[in-house]
Amino acid sequence: MSTFYCENCRITFEDSQGLKKEYQDYIYGPCWKYIAYCPECKQESSEKREPKPGKAKSDLSMECGSGGCQGPACSRF
Ligand SMILES: [Zn+2]
Repeated sequence: MSTFYCENCRITFEDSQGLKKEYQDYIYGPCWKYIAYCPECKQESSEKREPKPGKAKSDLSMECGSGGCQGPACSRF
């Protein structure tokens, strides 16, 4: 069960399936996301995501630990 948000109706709704949709992001290139159709207006709606504070930071340190990072912050490894 995933939660989706319709910007048109400003409602959140749940959908058991969700559709995987591929799209082109102008920064990241090919991406995909889950969409569902609003039960009220039938518009395409994106999955609602809870903000995750500090996630980018932990991702960065994981990348350093894997040895893939050669930035100055990783010289101590
Ligand atoms: Zn709607």
